[in-house]
Amino acid sequence: MASLTFKGGIHPYDGKDLSKDKPIREVLPKGDLVYPVSQHIGAPATPIVKKGDHVLCGQKIAEASGFVSSPVYATVSGFVKAVEPRRVVTGDSVMSIVIENDDKYEEVEYPPAIDINKASREEIIERIKEAGIVGMGGAGFPTFIKLSPKEPDKIDYVIVNCAECEPYLTSDYRRMLEEPEKLINGLKVSLRLFPKAQGILAVEDNKKDCVDILKKLTKDETRISVKTLKTKYPQGAERQLVFATTGRQINCSMLPADVGCVVNNVDTVVAIYHAIFEGKPLMERIVTVTGDAIKNPCNFKVRIGTNYHELIEEAGGFRVKPEKIVSGGPMMGFGIFDLDVPTTKTASALLALSKDDVSAAQETACIKCGRCSEVCPGRVLPNKLMMAAIHDDEETFLKLNGMECCECGCCSFVCPAKKPLTQTIKSMRKMQLAKKKK
Ligand code: SF4
Ligand code: SF4
Repeated sequence: MASLTFKGGIHPYDGKDLSKDKPIREVLPKGDLVYPVSQHIGAPATPIVKKGDHVLCGQKIAEASGFVSSPVYATVSGFVKAVEPRRVVTGDSVMSIVIENDDKYEEVEYPPAIDINKASREEIIERIKEAGIVGMGGAGFPTFIKLSPKEPDKIDYVIVNCAECEPYLTSDYRRMLEEPEKLINGLKVSLRLFPKAQGILAVEDNKKDCVDILKKLTKDETRISVKTLKTKYPQGAERQLVFATTGRQINCSMLPADVGCVVNNVDTVVAIYHAIFEGKPLMERIVTVTGDAIKNPCNFKVRIGTNYHELIEEAGGFRVKPEKIVSGGPMMGFGIFDLDVPTTKTASALLALSKDDVSAAQETACIKCGRCSEVCPGRVLPNKLMMAAIHDDEETFLKLNGMECCECGCCSFVCPAKKPLTQTIKSMRKMQLAKKKK
């Protein structure tokens, strides 16, 4: 059967060979652990520990404050060294809890496993909420809210985003290969919340080994299917994924739940597994440390709070001086200038590149080739939107559906004139979103 897809998109160099065959290796932190209280969309969590307190691994150290918020847990045992603002990956300074690791890894007593066949819907959602699980693909939206739509009976599909379409990233790929049972059981928890839904494991066709394993393990599951997607960027973007797997369309003002879908990424679903079946809150994630400037590209199981410097060291350090370091993938991630920042719930990768092609590119005049529009999955006109943004022309920007841009970067990638299309449109979108919020 042909692989499923969407209109538009690009095929960038994928760089996955650097790390795809590297099994997940656990990294134990060496230095202090730093926990920003804002690692999610919504109100920052409120610290509930103070300097000098002794904490255990798995102990709550910051409480959710407000409905859209999420608690934070210690991932080592040790002493609270400070509660103070610390630099995070975006360059901002965020209130953080700093813990000095005592290297004992003493743990709290975790709550018992939940029997999903007997537990109530509320009990399951409360456990996921309390575990501090948020969208670990980068969005950071609290997962319990996603799993609590107004009308659960109207959810037809629970989709696991196994596309991993961003170049270089292989953390989801390794998870699927090494812990497929956890992924499937995590999906079963979500299916328990939506009695009429079908589960879909949506995998790009460049991960045939994952497709085969998942198909084998779900062959007797009547409510779960494995769907193969065409390998194309941004196949894993929420709107494109929903369309490719179900044929349903959403725009920028809709949620997948509006068309009967719930979407979660691989690490998030595995975190649900840990919370329900092991009673463990969100404490770890898989991070791909890669790029041609890294000595030994790897996939690490990292305790949240671990310093980025330590991850680079664990990967053997730099092979050459990197011109660019990115947190996340090359298309949607952002450049970082200071490695003295912690791994957070949403940090999927650390990419070090010997060449910064984007900065080196010389911008020239638009030749009206139309390539940017051809590849745009948001079906907008990137060059026109860019001009509207440059002239601060909000009316035209909105009329041209500028808010439908998902900031995927495809237009900038193909532009022969090296126009900073995505960056310019992104700034205008940010301004509009801030206005709307006000
Ligand atoms: S305009 Fe937005 S959605 Fe369209 S290609 Fe550019 S970044 Fe992607
Ligand atoms: S791809 Fe670049 S050069 Fe071509 S129309 Fe778009 S902005 Fe102009």
